[in-house]
Amino acid sequence: MAKEETLFDKIISGDIPCYKVYEDEHVFSFLDIAPQSLGHTLVVPKESKAYVHELSDDAAAAIGRALPRICRAVMAASGSSAYNLLQNNGPEAGQSVFHVHFHIIPCFETKRLDFNWAPTNLTPDNAAVLVAKIDKFLSDEV
Ligand code: 5GP
Repeated sequence: MAKEETLFDKIISGDIPCYKVYEDEHVFSFLDIAPQSLGHTLVVPKESKAYVHELSDDAAAAIGRALPRICRAVMAASGSSAYNLLQNNGPEAGQSVFHVHFHIIPCFETKRLDFNWAPTNLTPDNAAVLVAKIDKFLSDEV
């Protein structure tokens, strides 16, 4: 059965209008419809995957290539010298559109993202277990 088109598939194909700022073979970028600040821009792989960990190497590499360039353009256009890159995966992480997207959100002296960081302690025991598990996963996956 064919996968249902995402909202961003429809924007990429032109079925839903947007203010496009960039396009190449693998990447599409446009202004967010409800900007957190002036210049809030979304950068999207054309590959239709919900989460970053599902992306192909080609799509991920293309995003990595385009992102700094689009950040520079958004900084120039908005006049900001600071910005947040935000990328949500899963509803618990605040994702509402299930097609990978990176937010470029310019920050200004008077307009900053409100983060509620609640730092905890990294204990040596936890760190050792985590590093061993991540290392095993990465070795097994190759
Ligand atoms: P998420 O919460 O999934 O990380 O972010 C989804 C983003 O998509 C939100 O910032 C929201 O404003 C934006 N968005 C949702 N619908 C549309 C739309 O139809 N057009 C555009 N340009 N942005 C959209």
